[in-house]
Amino acid sequence: MDRDVLKTRVAPLELYKCTPRTNCGECGSKTCLAFATLVVTGQEKITACPYLDEEQVKPLRDRLEEQLAAGVGVSREGFEKTMEFLSGEIKKCDFRVQAETIGAEVKEGQGGFDLILPYFNEVVLVTKSDIENLSGGALSAWEKILIFNYVIAGGTEPSTVWVGMESLPNSVSKIKSLKAHCEEPLARLYGGRIDAFSKAVLPRGREICLKDQGVDFAAEFAVFPKLAIRLLFWDEVRDEGYACRVKFLFDSRVLQVLDLESLLFACEQITDRLSGKV
Ligand code: SF4
Repeated sequence: MDRDVLKTRVAPLELYKCTPRTNCGECGSKTCLAFATLVVTGQEKITACPYLDEEQVKPLRDRLEEQLAAGVGVSREGFEKTMEFLSGEIKKCDFRVQAETIGAEVKEGQGGFDLILPYFNEVVLVTKSDIENLSGGALSAWEKILIFNYVIAGGTEPSTVWVGMESLPNSVSKIKSLKAHCEEPLARLYGGRIDAFSKAVLPRGREICLKDQGVDFAAEFAVFPKLAIRLLFWDEVRDEGYACRVKFLFDSRVLQVLDLESLLFACEQITDRLSGKV
């Protein structure tokens, strides 16, 4: 195991100090300390607390990602329980029926039928027991959970009506997390740099024209074949005192395709890709 990762591992108290310590419970934990403990052991995502200051927490977040990837301090229980549940559900799926509705191809594999599924700009192989990235990159445990959740939900045709997170039911805490961990960091990173933003977006998503709606730049990311996420960008206008603004939009039927938690994770994946982390 990498000694440097061990030396710099994030302790629960270190993360706890970054929380507002109000024990509001919005993250699903009763206390901020319980939340911090779950995060550093890989059982909760840091984005579950919408009140963390992104600037303050960023160095911890980077170290945390490194230590969790190296398996340092990870309680496997959380992942394993989720994966065990999802593995049970995936076994009940008939991939031949589901393939069309989720936009995948069926392939005969060793243990039955498998799915070939586009995922961002890559392609993954989904079997009844695991997921492999056919494009060569590694998939994190959370990405595997995202992909299994999408397959199990079974897909649906999009409505083509685009809405913000605030229009989705039960999304109050997720609106804050989306702002704090995705929209605001992207606005800070690319405010005044629209060309750099479009350069970061275009290998990963396609540009769409919404200039008639006053949007400076807009793009669509195909997370999965039946799940696109839009990103709108209004650049800052310093002379007039307007700050840069970024907003994610979703198809109004998105919750038939993915649960809210997974949807937030998909937005984090887009943010990480645009911030050069992936
Ligand atoms: S949401 Fe944040 S502030 Fe509220 S209990 Fe969880 S960690 Fe604490």
